[in-house]
Amino acid sequence: MPFKGKTSLLIFLLLIFSSVATAQNWDWHIDDATIIDGTGQESYQADLLIRGNTIAFIGEVNADTISAQNYVDASGKVITPGFIDAHAHGDPLETPDFRNFLGMGVTTIVLGQDGSSPMVGNLDAWFAKVEEAKPAVNIAMFTGHGSIRSKVDIGKQKPSATELDKMTRLLEADLKAGAFGMSTGLEYVPGIYAQKEELQEMAKVVGEHEGMIMSHMRSEDDSKIKASLEELAAQGKYAPVHASHLKVVYGEGQQRAEEILNYIDSFREQGIEFTADVYPYAASYTGIGIVFPEWAKTESGWKQAMKERPDMLRNFLKDKLKQRNGPGAVLFGSGEFAGKTLAEASSLTGQSPVDLLMEMGPEAASAAHFVMNEELQARIVVADKVMISSDGSPTMHHPRAYGSFAKIIDHYVNEEQMLSLEQAIYKMSGLTAQTLGLEDRGTIKEGNKADLLIFDPKEVKARATFSNPHKLAKGFNWIMLNGELVRKNGAFKEQRSGVALRESH
Ligand SMILES: [Zn+2]
Repeated sequence: MPFKGKTSLLIFLLLIFSSVATAQNWDWHIDDATIIDGTGQESYQADLLIRGNTIAFIGEVNADTISAQNYVDASGKVITPGFIDAHAHGDPLETPDFRNFLGMGVTTIVLGQDGSSPMVGNLDAWFAKVEEAKPAVNIAMFTGHGSIRSKVDIGKQKPSATELDKMTRLLEADLKAGAFGMSTGLEYVPGIYAQKEELQEMAKVVGEHEGMIMSHMRSEDDSKIKASLEELAAQGKYAPVHASHLKVVYGEGQQRAEEILNYIDSFREQGIEFTADVYPYAASYTGIGIVFPEWAKTESGWKQAMKERPDMLRNFLKDKLKQRNGPGAVLFGSGEFAGKTLAEASSLTGQSPVDLLMEMGPEAASAAHFVMNEELQARIVVADKVMISSDGSPTMHHPRAYGSFAKIIDHYVNEEQMLSLEQAIYKMSGLTAQTLGLEDRGTIKEGNKADLLIFDPKEVKARATFSNPHKLAKGFNWIMLNGELVRKNGAFKEQRSGVALRESH
């Protein structure tokens, strides 16, 4: 019949066409994948062809008409962009393997956080070292405001005009070398000494170079969180701003989360670009200095306080501990008492928790601090423009470093159904790439770099716990990074394939 003939001619022509489009040599043919592309759009079925480090073709592929070096049958599984960790820690020169990140599907980490970064003013040289070390994940960098402040050697006071000029020049050098922006750590020394004018001058430079500001804010306490967000938003006049590991310490309930999220929205309505990241755990992890007063957060400040005003320090610690859910809510992750709570360490030594802290000082250990409310944090996890981070490093004694991204799928998608898989993937890849200005990663589209995961979402499990924090996540057994297969059937390749990512300003 003529009609049927026309149809088959059409099909024949289509086949010719697709084979014309695909007859060249490919490195990978990924067959019959359910693509979740990282934009938040609904999944769809297609084949992928990879050449070199790039996603070269997405569509229908006839296996008989192409030649590809490698083939993988992805039927029954999803393929997603490799995840991007918006706030991570670790040193690619010390621990380049970064299996904690790869194990939970993370292929790019954002370092230089909380105001602290290496070799400020000389990031090019640091990038060269990183490239030599060849990390197992891609590295995006921020330049640390605190590190810049230390390098210019400004004490507790305001920088002079000359000092501020030195600071902005260091910042500028790092931005030109490829940093994605500046990070601040205003709850830590020395960021804690920075005032409005200084932060504003720095923000102007960040904005001029189209970077962004990521901030560990002044305070995450319930009573101070709004003031902290407002302080950050003030810099938002000059550059996009981002609240790192957004949390409300001692805050409770979904309603409180709504208030905070609405407050952030009010800045967006004023035209300020304001984003945030969050890790899906109700305990933070940081140095025990976090419970010490500003005047005793450093070794020298503490020694001086022990001599000059021990009672004042004792009272401060007593109140602070009470406010932070008591000595049972501090679980040491390093130092002499690693694995024990402050309450346990106290009964072991026969000292009161406060006396023990006084004796240890602010820099003796890090700890998990159980100071957050699950319900409140869960609302933040699912909020708009909030992306996922781990705030973790390979050596940190907190399960978030090994589990965060798996937990989002395991808990928020599979168990609680608070997020669709597409939304979750968006929060872990596309949204982050878009926010950073990382143009060729974070989504699956032709021309993008081939950072890809193939997995069965039902198999994903976060296995790290507070008592066993270094257990790798389960489920991400096929990982491609820059076109190289770095994990196959669960086994990691020895060869590392990460690169240093540079923002072009
Ligand atoms: Zn932080």
